[in-house]
Amino acid sequence: MSKQRVLITGGAGFLGSHLCERFLGEGYEVICMDNLITGDIRNVEHLFREKDFHFEHRDVTEHVHVVGQLDAILHFASPASPIDYLELPIQTLKVGSLGTHKVLGLARAKGARFLLASTSECYGDPLVHPQSEDYWGNVNPVGPRGVYDEAKRFAEAMTMAYHRTHGVETRIIRIFNTYGPRMRLKDGRVLPSFMAQALRGEPLTVFGDGSQTRSFCFVDDLVEGIWRLLNSDEVLPTNIGNPSEMTILQFAQAVIEMTGSKSKIDYRPLPVDDPKVRQPDIRKARRILGWEPQVDLTEGLRRTLKDFRERVALADA
Ligand code: UDP
Repeated sequence: MSKQRVLITGGAGFLGSHLCERFLGEGYEVICMDNLITGDIRNVEHLFREKDFHFEHRDVTEHVHVVGQLDAILHFASPASPIDYLELPIQTLKVGSLGTHKVLGLARAKGARFLLASTSECYGDPLVHPQSEDYWGNVNPVGPRGVYDEAKRFAEAMTMAYHRTHGVETRIIRIFNTYGPRMRLKDGRVLPSFMAQALRGEPLTVFGDGSQTRSFCFVDDLVEGIWRLLNSDEVLPTNIGNPSEMTILQFAQAVIEMTGSKSKIDYRPLPVDDPKVRQPDIRKARRILGWEPQVDLTEGLRRTLKDFRERVALADA
């Protein structure tokens, strides 16, 4: 039997690169596609020596063509940090809409299983807490975050339409805040910002009074959830994230402690429409995938710190 082949869009990004590694480890041939707007070739450089790894520098909002068979497509291409989608609003909307359409068309043509990377942002600034998959969300379509939230909501709708109309085997994962090695130092998300600031002894920029909450999942746990969901029969959206919730101020303190830094806190204005609370309800993932996170925050931060130490030292050299 020939090897299974997977296409990973956004494969040179933070999550995409971890997925490339996982699928190579599972014996797949991996085609990593990225336009490198927010992805970074250095995330997958170490994979170029693998004979089953192929990189394609391409924008999935244009025509996507792949020669030969495809068994699975993981659609992870998109700017994903609030700063990125504020800087790239039109690309964010295009990759969620046109890009998802193109990649679904490819899945249909190849008879490939399709997994969409969706997001907890579909719930917006939630009025239901914790967020379960049957909550429809509280999204401001015309606010600054709307470009990402609505693109992903559209992508979910398009994915379901391809499933219902064309019988494409589809999966939708709603990803909650995830962290780990390879997040871009300057991507503006809370973990890279705090870690880089702590390592440099600069003040940690806490937005608002830091009372807003998030629940942080280590990347290896997320990748395991994706693997299980892809291999399950579940078509409707499934939350994957770590339900251990904390305030952003507590998170800042955890990073200061882990790095042994002397940094202080610098309070900055809260961005528009910043969700006040966020915690995944993962009962469904537990039930249908037998999945739950294994890595706690201390262990996850420890594993992340090593990579950040090296990259901050390189950047500052
Ligand atoms: N945040 C912060 N300081 C930073 C970056 C982010 O206090 O330097 C806050 C942000 O306002 C939000 C939370 O941390 O409440 C998580 O932000 P992130 O950009 O990581 O992702 P989000 O969960 O908002 O999509």
